Amino acid sequence: MIDTTIPTATLASRAALRRVEAGNLAICAHCDQQVKFAAKQNRQQVIANVYVNGKWDRVEHFHEECYELAESPFGPVNA
Ligand SMILES: [Zn+2]
Repeated sequence: MIDTTIPTATLASRAALRRVEAGNLAICAHCDQQVKFAAKQNRQQVIANVYVNGKWDRVEHFHEECYELAESPFGPVNA
């Protein structure tokens, strides 16, 4: 039935750009550092909804720059 060369983990996965909120405790999936809120910098993070075998599996967080360094593993970012 499955007739695709696209890795199933990326089939329905989506990535979106969001402002980093105060109290954010997410760990970047690329560099393992906390995605920290910084009051003076309007920092952005990438939040990816990861689907495995067509089912929602988890959310992964990335620093905006890390997502690019990781070569956009969950597709282009929706701003
Ligand atoms: Zn990072």
